[in-house]
Amino acid sequence: AKKQGRNSVQVFTHEINTKLTQRLMLRNDLQDAITQEQLNLYYQPLIHRNGVVKGFEALLRWQHPVKGFISPGRFIPLAEQTGQIVALGQWVMKRAARDLLALSDSLPHDCLISVNLSPLQFHRADFLQTLAETLEATDLPAIRLELELTEGVLMNDTEGAIATLHRLREMGVHVAIDDFGTGFSSLSYLRHLPVDTLKIDRSFITHLPDNRKDTAVVGGIIDLAHHLGLTVVAEGVETREQHQTLAALDCDVFQGYLLAHPMPYGSLVDWLESRKL
Ligand code: C2E
Ligand code: CA
Ligand code: CA
Ligand code: CA
Repeated sequence: AKKQGRNSVQVFTHEINTKLTQRLMLRNDLQDAITQEQLNLYYQPLIHRNGVVKGFEALLRWQHPVKGFISPGRFIPLAEQTGQIVALGQWVMKRAARDLLALSDSLPHDCLISVNLSPLQFHRADFLQTLAETLEATDLPAIRLELELTEGVLMNDTEGAIATLHRLREMGVHVAIDDFGTGFSSLSYLRHLPVDTLKIDRSFITHLPDNRKDTAVVGGIIDLAHHLGLTVVAEGVETREQHQTLAALDCDVFQGYLLAHPMPYGSLVDWLESRKL
């Protein structure tokens, strides 16, 4: 038993080492990715219940020269730990602004670009300054930008967060609460937050309409959000049944594979054209 114990410790240490090495490699590679144009943005449409395109969410993609496609679920958390998310986020903001503006003739005039914001970016002392400079440099009107923040960001350091949200609102930038329902916040804190949009997390949508509890929760969230003057987006809409149920519950905007997958910039014009047919 002793011998086995030592072996499993060795295996365990070996595993940790491998993980550490992998992470160190990924960290170095991520640095290269930013400078060597291995990063790309995909765009997923957000569609109003009346069919009008509300905007597009920008989603990062990393095509590694050797390891192939690495999903954001893997490298974003790492980039948050190393602080590299700040440079990444800056790159995303500029690219998204540039792409949206280049397409503006083909888009509905009030079409938004939605950008995911890491807590690390939001809490930096120079966040608002950097954002204002980026808008200035890219010529993107502030009212065309929506920032997606998770509940957790707004829950910790609430006063500072609320002050920043007020500044964003003054600038005209829209704010969405992302992945709503996955944090442990009470719904009542929403009263204090100057935000525009609430995105209900996919985990609440997946089992609609069969799961009656989920259906009730989603209906309740939508009603409450509407009373607070918020627009509601359902994330991860994959089936017609989900779409119909959400429409019956008065959901405002839909996002998910049923409507459109995230797509590269080069496919957006074709996608917009195909909708007119
Ligand atoms: P998220 O912000 O919740 O983004 C939605 C995710 O759901 C995206 O995954 C999207 O591809 C996926 N999705 C959309 N519709 C459906 C559907 O109908 N079914 C299913 N199963 N999935 C759907 P993706 O692109 O892999 O991104 C994962 C996460 O990585 C994002 O979750 C976001 O938290 C983060 N992320 C992506 N890009 C950025 C970025 O530029 N900055 C930051 N800070 N985070 C990002
Ligand atoms: Ca998001
Ligand atoms: Ca989300
Ligand atoms: Ca999510």
